Amino acid sequence: MTADFPRQRQEQILEWLRTQGFATVEALASRLSVSTMTVHRDLDRLAKAGAVQKVHGGVELMVAKPATQPHIPTCSLCHAEVPARTTFMAQNAAGEKFHACCSHCGLLLLAENAHLISALARDFIYGRMVNVAQAIYVIESRVHLCCVPSVLCFTGREDADSFQRGFGGQVMTFDEARHYMSHHHSTHHE
Ligand SMILES: [Zn+2]
Ligand SMILES: [Zn+2]
Repeated sequence: MTADFPRQRQEQILEWLRTQGFATVEALASRLSVSTMTVHRDLDRLAKAGAVQKVHGGVELMVAKPATQPHIPTCSLCHAEVPARTTFMAQNAAGEKFHACCSHCGLLLLAENAHLISALARDFIYGRMVNVAQAIYVIESRVHLCCVPSVLCFTGREDADSFQRGFGGQVMTFDEARHYMSHHHSTHHE
């Protein structure tokens, strides 16, 4: 086919991309019977308009590409998606990161992997990450967000105590919580 006018060509390119999502510059040039230089010029114009994205060797329709989704890590232990509210993250000496869905799996992960040297968990009230070794845990409260028994992480003992008074469970230090978890070894995900 011949498309003599840039505008016509560009519309044709968009139409093909709508059905295919992706096309190489060469394929477009031969379908349009124009040089690859011309195709590049057309693509530059379309890219500037935000309609397409030039990629190595070709072009992609912008809308055909799903919006870049935030990568959701999965739990190293139970393979559930890691909920933002209960994120637990451990690191080995090489800086490699391991995620757990909540402090329940996190504490078990640490118990089973001695090479994990540091870990952070999300404070249940304030949402910031805290060093797990200094955190306080409320185990087996009525609040079940993830795994059972529920293990929630708090920065301070006062908050953990207040939470415990309202929602039950036991307040524990890191060592106590780790010990407790390795003896109630159920990795059950709700
Ligand atoms: Zn898990
Ligand atoms: Zn969990």
